[in-house]
Amino acid sequence: MPDLRYKPEPAKHTEIPRPKRAEGQWGFGYTEPLNKNEQSKKDDDPLNVRDRILNIYSKRGFDSIDPADLRGRFRWMGLYTQRKPGIDGGKTAVLDEEELDDRFFMMRVRSDGQLLAPAAVRALGTIGTDFARDTADVTDRENIQYHWIRVEDVPEIWRRLDEAGLSSLEACGDSPRPFLGSPVAGVAADEIIDGTSALDEIRARFLGDPAFSNFPRKFKTALTGHPSHDVSPETNDVAFVGTVHPEHGPGFDVWVGGGLSTNPKLAVPLGVWVPTDEVADVWAGVAGIFRDYGYRRLRSKARLKFLVADWGRDTFREVLEKEYLGRELVSCDSPPSPGTVRDHIGVHDQKDGDKYVGLAPTAGRVSGTLLVGLADLMEKHGVTGARLTPYQKIVLIGVPPGAVDGLLDDLDELGLTARPSQWRRNTMACTGIEFCKLAIVDTKDRARDLVAELERRFPDLDTPITVNVNGCPNACARTQVADIGLKGQLVMHEGEQVEGFQVHLGGAAGLDAVFGRKLRAHKVTSAGLDDYVTAVVSNFLVDRTEGEAFAAWVAR
Ligand code: SF4
Repeated sequence: MPDLRYKPEPAKHTEIPRPKRAEGQWGFGYTEPLNKNEQSKKDDDPLNVRDRILNIYSKRGFDSIDPADLRGRFRWMGLYTQRKPGIDGGKTAVLDEEELDDRFFMMRVRSDGQLLAPAAVRALGTIGTDFARDTADVTDRENIQYHWIRVEDVPEIWRRLDEAGLSSLEACGDSPRPFLGSPVAGVAADEIIDGTSALDEIRARFLGDPAFSNFPRKFKTALTGHPSHDVSPETNDVAFVGTVHPEHGPGFDVWVGGGLSTNPKLAVPLGVWVPTDEVADVWAGVAGIFRDYGYRRLRSKARLKFLVADWGRDTFREVLEKEYLGRELVSCDSPPSPGTVRDHIGVHDQKDGDKYVGLAPTAGRVSGTLLVGLADLMEKHGVTGARLTPYQKIVLIGVPPGAVDGLLDDLDELGLTARPSQWRRNTMACTGIEFCKLAIVDTKDRARDLVAELERRFPDLDTPITVNVNGCPNACARTQVADIGLKGQLVMHEGEQVEGFQVHLGGAAGLDAVFGRKLRAHKVTSAGLDDYVTAVVSNFLVDRTEGEAFAAWVAR
């Protein structure tokens, strides 16, 4: 097989700041791997594992899998081994990865903001029922995530996904992770610009491209032309955000360097205007900077946010223009749109006279059976398609106005309501200890129980309070930008370590994005979570001034 991989070239732009210690940046000629992940990627392009899965591992079974593929390159195909059931959170840090490994896989299927026709929703559902013990969660990267996948079944799953126009390619790994697209692109009456064609072009040109299959770490992309900034652009490595240039009209600003986990950073707007048909080239430029200049020595420093923080906005833009695009970008200092509610829950107007309807599963927990039921309802009511959202929600697109009332009733009966409580609407949870090898605590079931209890205790809550439940410090469910952000950890209780959470209070997303305060004293056991949240919310409701939001109250 020819080696199609990208061959690093020396930096052309001599003023790029060089760190004192070599960080493994290809652009400065440091191509020798500095850790085992870099070595594994150098040994073999992770994209090559696809053939081995199809032709060897799926035929010979789990025990035939090369460990370097199993715990490394499989991720480029959206496959992770899942956590062995019954291992408690206290063991997460002390056991080797292989001791935590189950013989089953988690598979992520990327939707990339695409409109899923009823047949595609049905295909996603039946994959869950046929191969994944009826799992099929909606994640906050617009994926469907399955569990209990056997390697023997992967070829048939991929065949069905392919038939539905979907894929698990590069859904994990040091690759272009699933793209977040506006769930209401092309239909919302208040849209600034429709970025669908730009996202399609990025996917068609660069997904599975060996030139972009070896980043220093993951690379997250978001694109929206909706004024609500409904793709969490501030927490992505690169985001294209709808803006209006006074002369050129609607286009996209480029935000770079967002990311949470440890050392959270908000993305920095470059203050430019990019027309739709140039977005893919600019994406390749930003991705190229990350590939060539991203830090590869320590995994904990290998995200674009560290490079952006060290270079600053102006240097980043200059390198992008001079070294990658060969031209200057159009400056644009139009202020970002003021932003509105981002989740699209409920019934809204489309520009063509139809409606779109946002549904709220609890903390993203869906199932194959529910997706099949949803496909049935979409066909029954003449709904065009569905999109997944970065808030673990589902939006139905192209609902005939006359079908709305019947559809809402049927959705309630199915268990995917479009009329959720504030608690159900505003609670997210990551995968957690049920399946994730990095988890310290349970999240999905804990979030479900918390929502049920808060619905009972505060049935008429009149303002949104976001609760993001995370199983470890990695912040997959965006700990730091929630009103009540919960980071899973072991906490001391009556002399023993038990499952619990470090609380981050008063975080916010959007234009007023701010990281929640990590208060030393605010650690809570998982068992005590309902009462803790009740106490905080009760204080807020008594003490708030008229119209004051939770984050503003915390910041007082
Ligand atoms: Fe796993 Fe931690 Fe991410 Fe949750 S936040 S999915 S526990 S890595």
